[in-house]
Amino acid sequence: MCGIVAYLGHRQARPLLLEGLKRLEYRGYDSAGMAVINGGLHVARAVGRVSNLEALVTADPGFTGTLGIAHTRWATHGGVTEANAHPHRDDTNGIALVHNGIIENYSALRTYLTERGHVFTSETDTEVLAMLIGELYDPAHGMDLEKAVQAALREVTGAYAIAVVCEREPDTLVCARKGSPLLVGVGSGEFVVASDASAIVAHTTQAFPLDDYNVCKITREKFTTSTIHNVPVTPRVEQLELDLEQIELGGYSHFMQKEIFEQPRALRTCMRGRLDAAEGTVVLGGLRQFAPQLVRSRRVILAAQGTALHSAMIGEYLLEDLAKVPAECEYASEFRYRNPIIEEGTVVVAVSQSGETADTLAALTEAKERGALALGVINVVGSSIPRITDAGVYLRAGPEIGVASTKAFTAQVAVLTMVSLFMARRRFMSAEQCGSLIRELEQVPDKIERVLELNDSIRAITEKYVERENWLFLGRGYNYPTALEGALKLKEISYIHAEGMPAAEMKHGPIALIDDGMPAVFIATRGSQYEKVMSNISEVRSRGGHVIAVATEGDQEIHHHAQDVFYIPDVPECLSPMVAVVPLQLMAYHAAVLRGHDVDKPRNLAKSVTVE
Ligand code: GLU
Repeated sequence: MCGIVAYLGHRQARPLLLEGLKRLEYRGYDSAGMAVINGGLHVARAVGRVSNLEALVTADPGFTGTLGIAHTRWATHGGVTEANAHPHRDDTNGIALVHNGIIENYSALRTYLTERGHVFTSETDTEVLAMLIGELYDPAHGMDLEKAVQAALREVTGAYAIAVVCEREPDTLVCARKGSPLLVGVGSGEFVVASDASAIVAHTTQAFPLDDYNVCKITREKFTTSTIHNVPVTPRVEQLELDLEQIELGGYSHFMQKEIFEQPRALRTCMRGRLDAAEGTVVLGGLRQFAPQLVRSRRVILAAQGTALHSAMIGEYLLEDLAKVPAECEYASEFRYRNPIIEEGTVVVAVSQSGETADTLAALTEAKERGALALGVINVVGSSIPRITDAGVYLRAGPEIGVASTKAFTAQVAVLTMVSLFMARRRFMSAEQCGSLIRELEQVPDKIERVLELNDSIRAITEKYVERENWLFLGRGYNYPTALEGALKLKEISYIHAEGMPAAEMKHGPIALIDDGMPAVFIATRGSQYEKVMSNISEVRSRGGHVIAVATEGDQEIHHHAQDVFYIPDVPECLSPMVAVVPLQLMAYHAAVLRGHDVDKPRNLAKSVTVE
């Protein structure tokens, strides 16, 4: 969600900041801005794409300089206008600031600052922080930019990642964070600060994540890190695990398309070294130490949002089915605020691609405080959630740039399958049974490869229905969450209204929606509920709906029920969502392309939702 890039070094900041903003575009934003110190402070802001900002600053010689900050905004406070876009300035000292997050007590601070004569020009919470830093700035009395930022942040509640410059200190960049991610890249004689590694790796692979309540002061020679209370901190500079190639399109039209097609490889990497079919065991280094606690656990709560919630729902089925442990899945945002009961033996698993999802982070923090064992199923290494968990399992799916999550979903399901087997084997499952499931799991990437070969026919079938504005996605058991995920994908990028639900639920109300030709996508693979799904299909057909079925190869019977069929390879029911979801991802992708939407930058959406 939104992005920050800042630069201090020996090169021109402008091109570097623009390139960084473009790399962060996938995170989602509605406006962009930049400030460069060149004698004085030069600020430009534009609503819409980074290219609009680029047009403004490229022609302007004011933007030559080697220190600058830049931002893509995802509005939370105040409309999408140029005046609300960042950077925001104070009104006296030539201070400019970019901010990601929400200053929760901005209203009280604004009243205080207004009483002290400051005049605001935007509706944002961010401008209040810029003004407060300016109010406290007093270099003659030791309150230089770093100290003023520390002092201001001591007055602030909420979440922030910020980068700040001041025209009176033309060789200093100050950044800080609480709750929202920020990485400091350390190059040779230069520094690149950004919301994520994708804006840094082209320049340096050495970086460290700022910790909560930490402030980093960067000058031309060095950086120093302290807490907001000015206690020195020594960060660990680490090697970034990200290749430029991983964040480039490499011949695909969109990142989402690339990531759908990357799923077999992502899953192989996810499972590599973690499965031993011969021994019938799952090796998860991150969990080993907690194995006794997991075996004794009485209840597992999976907390997540969005796509991760759907994989967590599949995790709930897997944990109960395979590991025989009571499991429940919850919106992290609801869990946190309903005074949840955490008893002895409760394990809470946070599932999030980015590891920065604010709701999920907050839920896990709450669960930990109440004594739960806190686990994470996360893709981005070193992100905020894994830094507070007791243990966890990384997805190893590689960077996911497409806003609509695809490979992270299948990798989350794979990891939750492995976690379930890890527990199951130590509880009730025989080595033989576990070994045979592992062998099946190892074949999933090959099976997904076969589904990907259906790409052209999936596009053709999608084209038949793409004008329809209302769709249903229906499934049962393990594939009920798959149906939810199919509906979410379609909504996110093609803006078609879609509802996912358990197939049996339809007749309790939503069946009223079915009219002539309404597309209803059924996950109708062979499994324990096949016959029941057939009955649900009949109910839709009898009311004029058009049934598109995801069925198991060799099932000829399905043609008597469905108008269109996507065949997927046979796979045990508990592993079927990873394969069955792929045609749904491709349908959503093609629907968005056919409707002419920008697949990788869907309206209103942000990649990682870092505000609650
Ligand atoms: N709350 C700030 C605003 O609305 C920052 C939003 C962001 O993270 O981009 O301007």
